Amino acid sequence: MISETMLQAINEQINRELFSAYLYRAAGSSLASDNYPGMADWMSSQATEENEHAEKFIQFVEDRGGRVVFEAIDKPEGDFSSPVAAFEGALEHEQFITEHINGLYALAVKEKDYAAQVLLGWFVDEQVEEEASVGLVVEKLRRAGNDSAALLMLDSELGKRSSSEE
Ligand code: MG
Repeated sequence: MISETMLQAINEQINRELFSAYLYRAAGSSLASDNYPGMADWMSSQATEENEHAEKFIQFVEDRGGRVVFEAIDKPEGDFSSPVAAFEGALEHEQFITEHINGLYALAVKEKDYAAQVLLGWFVDEQVEEEASVGLVVEKLRRAGNDSAALLMLDSELGKRSSSEE
């Protein structure tokens, strides 16, 4: 059985992962409307990954005999006015998620929940990757600035990301 404290904290994280999917999907849609199809695909692949993250936590709660509570998902209020604004927002969001994953890990240690520690260890690694990959895109976009040729090249490069490439 999972403790009440751990269960509630994981339920909150499920909502955050679903919100992440919603945020990335909105960013992808906005970039598609602004004719950046590659960046739009990148964001949509990320949205799929976020749904998978939520699914991992949902499975875990179910396997541990807990009950998942589905709360309302907030409206994504990201700034999608330019590719760099959208990706900077994504990076900031991932840093926020990392803080929560670290907090959950600390709670699992405190609660002596070893199964949760194993699951959260995977998420700790995943967050290192997420921040690195979004951070790299932000750096490239900042370097590209308003150079439309550089932006087109980046759009094409980011469109080559496949959803299997996590
Ligand atoms: Mg996630």
